[in-house]
Amino acid sequence: MNQELPPPEDYDNPAPKPGEGCALAGCDKTEELNRCSACKVFLYCTREHQVEDRPAHKTTCNEIKKARANVERQKQALIDDPEFRNDNPFENHVGHFWKLRETRPYMMSLSKLAQAFQNKLYRPALEAELEVCMELLRLCPGDNMGVRETVPALLIRLNRDQECYDFIKWWATTAKERDYDWGTSDRYLNIKNADIFEPCGFINEKSLIGSLSLHACMMILKIKFVLDLIKLRATQNSIEKMSANLCAEAGPPPEEIFEELKRGSCRSSAILARPELLVDRNLTPKINVLRKQMDSLSETIDRHNKHYFPALFGPDMELGGDTMFAMGSPEEMRMALQNTWHAWVESTGTLSFMLLQRERELDTHFNPDINIHEDY
Ligand SMILES: [Zn+2]
Ligand SMILES: [Zn+2]
Repeated sequence: MNQELPPPEDYDNPAPKPGEGCALAGCDKTEELNRCSACKVFLYCTREHQVEDRPAHKTTCNEIKKARANVERQKQALIDDPEFRNDNPFENHVGHFWKLRETRPYMMSLSKLAQAFQNKLYRPALEAELEVCMELLRLCPGDNMGVRETVPALLIRLNRDQECYDFIKWWATTAKERDYDWGTSDRYLNIKNADIFEPCGFINEKSLIGSLSLHACMMILKIKFVLDLIKLRATQNSIEKMSANLCAEAGPPPEEIFEELKRGSCRSSAILARPELLVDRNLTPKINVLRKQMDSLSETIDRHNKHYFPALFGPDMELGGDTMFAMGSPEEMRMALQNTWHAWVESTGTLSFMLLQRERELDTHFNPDINIHEDY
């Protein structure tokens, strides 16, 4: 834990991020955009750009349009179902979907729609997918379909880190309460603005059951936070040096410039939402707390599924797989990898930091020589 960390620049491997703004490759307009009327997701700055992008967009557009039409069809079929005569399920049975058999085709159609938004590397598509997932959870809070496993990665990719933290914490705590009442909605996903530095003892073998993707995302969050703080600390140090020099020459420089520099060091919206961190002159204790949490989190995940982290760094990584799997199995790992892969690579530096942290950990665990040398 006390070893020197490599400089923050080492974690700055650029990774492709989901696009936003006009969907035509090469156009960087982000304002006054119109939505494609067929898929209602992709945005264009002009009619010309929409036409130009049509060959590339066509397949995706039709897929989404078809999935949407199917949702509408299933919705109408459900309302018309003789089982629900004078009893609109969308008014009277929200929270019990899926358990009521008749609602399953509709739930499946929503799940297919969510799938149609996947792998598009386009921010509005991620937002649309998240919206459908949250609707599935609203209709069936107990989440028989396992939708919660895909939500945290979407939130990370949209840089909604605090919401992501709160979401994971809720499933690891409230959802695991023996007497939690799934029938009432007042405590559902009600954790807001939880402390991101708090001890994470609520992450344990019990909370991991059926939740590998959620816990892997907690790991991504912790690394995002620690990377920001390391960078922020480096910025603080250079600012202090700079201002000492400047003061000697021309009096104290304006604070706003420093504020800008510090904000520029942070990527996570959850760190930026905590202004006290920007003026904290001793970030090291917080960095150490987060790194300790990372160690214990990675140990817990390893105990639950020994395949996940090796696969994350392994050359034979395989995504996808069966939705039915045994706890700790390679199939569970593949599913979790599929759910979390984009969140890892898009959160710049998290994979390389994780690898460094683990290599160091493995060294001290398995190579007694290193410990001996350190003693001298
Ligand atoms: Zn379209
Ligand atoms: Zn354009």
